[in-house]
Amino acid sequence: MLLHKINEVRTQVKEWKKQGLTVGLVPTMGALHNGHLSLIKKAVEKCDRVVVSVFVNPIQFCPGEDLDKYPRTLEADNKMCEDAGVSIVFAPTPTEMYGQNQMRTNDFLTYVIPPFFYVNKLCGKSRVGHFDGVCTVVNKLFNIVNPDYAFFGEKDAQQLIIIQKMVQDLNIDVEIIPCPIVREESGLALSSRNKYLSDDDKIQALALSKILNNIKNCYDKGITDVKALKETAFQFLNEHHELEYLEFCDSETLEEKQTADSKTRVFIACKVGGVRLIDNILL
Ligand code: AMP
Repeated sequence: MLLHKINEVRTQVKEWKKQGLTVGLVPTMGALHNGHLSLIKKAVEKCDRVVVSVFVNPIQFCPGEDLDKYPRTLEADNKMCEDAGVSIVFAPTPTEMYGQNQMRTNDFLTYVIPPFFYVNKLCGKSRVGHFDGVCTVVNKLFNIVNPDYAFFGEKDAQQLIIIQKMVQDLNIDVEIIPCPIVREESGLALSSRNKYLSDDDKIQALALSKILNNIKNCYDKGITDVKALKETAFQFLNEHHELEYLEFCDSETLEEKQTADSKTRVFIACKVGGVRLIDNILL
């Protein structure tokens, strides 16, 4: 069932709750691929009813980012969800979510602001305000859908950690279920933004997963010095790559590491053909 209105979703979920059914939420920005599908399948398995939100959230895009050209494929998304056993695809308009004027500036909207320690690194450094937009919309979706479980991909590991922190700090009554990264056979992590990549770019994009796998191999062989591990990346980079960051952080607290251990997650962001790609691996 494709719904566009907040009230319609609320009414349906209330009905389910009355019947004692559990509800799962999978928040997405659409252009669904097998990465999203893995979250959806997990949700369908675990919950009596599943809501997938499809919303390209304007307030999490920074000026100059790809808000206008972000792929929108609602019809195909809805079909994929229906086939997977999803009960509701919730696809609100920006006006339905934020009213007429609220999203132009944060002067007019109540925001959920995650802690500085969690956002002044990795993607938060270049995407200023991005995680404010993410936490605000996810909080709104939690309030609209009132899910028992919500499913998030480790593909966006910083986002997942920040949302877990928000849920804990604000006592939100939902269990967050992390889901592993789904990759192409080549190793490339699936992403809606892969649609922007040319065939050549796609080959160059393999550098990200190669760098991460190589670091994991070196770590498994006993190298734990982060400086030395970082240096192994350069053999995979050329003029097609614009490396934004390669960082080693604690997988729960996002604290930066000088020495790697089994709780360390390695995060990479790199532009290929002008497309910003991210990936990560747990050591
Ligand atoms: P997005 O539509 O990009 O906002 O992603 C919606 C959800 O799907 C987020 O929780 C992402 O982490 C997750 N996701 C996106 N790509 C993948 C992937 N390749 N593997 C696992 N989860 C993913």
